[in-house]
Amino acid sequence: MTTWAYLDGQWVDPGRPHLNLHTQGLHYGTAVFEGIRAYRQVDGGPPEPFMSVEHLDRFLASCGTLRIDLSESRQDLEGITRELVARSGIEDDCYVRPVAFKRSLLPGVPFGVRLQGVGHGLFVTVVPMATRLGRATRLGVSTVRRVPDVSIPTRAKVSGAYVASALAVDECVAAGHDDALLLTVDGRVAEGSTSNVVARIGSSVVTPSIDQGILPGLTRKVVLELARSAGLQTIERPIELAELYAADELFLVGTGVEIAPVVTLGGVAIGSGVPGPLVLDLCDRFEKLVRNHVPRS
Ligand code: PMP
Repeated sequence: MTTWAYLDGQWVDPGRPHLNLHTQGLHYGTAVFEGIRAYRQVDGGPPEPFMSVEHLDRFLASCGTLRIDLSESRQDLEGITRELVARSGIEDDCYVRPVAFKRSLLPGVPFGVRLQGVGHGLFVTVVPMATRLGRATRLGVSTVRRVPDVSIPTRAKVSGAYVASALAVDECVAAGHDDALLLTVDGRVAEGSTSNVVARIGSSVVTPSIDQGILPGLTRKVVLELARSAGLQTIERPIELAELYAADELFLVGTGVEIAPVVTLGGVAIGSGVPGPLVLDLCDRFEKLVRNHVPRS
């Protein structure tokens, strides 16, 4: 495997230094990113990016939040994604990471924190990443709250907002868990560190509504569709933490974790403490979908 990255129109070695120390994205977290998994297909061929159109549309919307006007269109970004995977010679599951960032102050612009008057850059990297679909997860409840939408728009994947996720994971891993649940500022269920939260309560599938200041996850959307097609009712609404402890099943959904059954929450067993029937079925159907056993309607 040869490693390549796309950087502002050129193909470069990601291991070489490319950014100058005045890069504002690094100083202030003023960058946005995406994560796109590409999956080995059942019938062979190169790994196929999953939901790349939706991811790249969200990426461009995130860019807008930071007033970054990329010269690359969504179609260009799709082409870059495919070429990057092909150039790197990766034949198995991998993860593509586009990042758009604030670069240096334009000439004459005074020093300071700002969005206007700052240049921008774009790079896209790829790393091999094996699937972790179905991995049992011990979820801690972090004291760190999800950054609210009134501080950093939560529909955008803004790099700086991930400081809260990193602090939350650090706290929960130190306490013996695998990942962190973050609550909203007013104490309701928000998200995992890099995933959405879904619970089965009886025969209903419930997940926090977007108005709770969560990222509208693409995996969340697919999983809700899969649940509905299995005949279950799905409900998006504010959720209290106490409801999760009493849930029959709980799982995290996101590009990185895919679908991860939560077996303990804050050390307390969820359901019978092993992955439940719904999450096992969803994992099975998700696997078929991403590897193209069945076309996505
Ligand atoms: N919430 C946060 C904070 C995330 O970083 C992610 C990962 N992108 C998700 C939810 C899940 O989103 P998706 O399914 O689109 O990857």
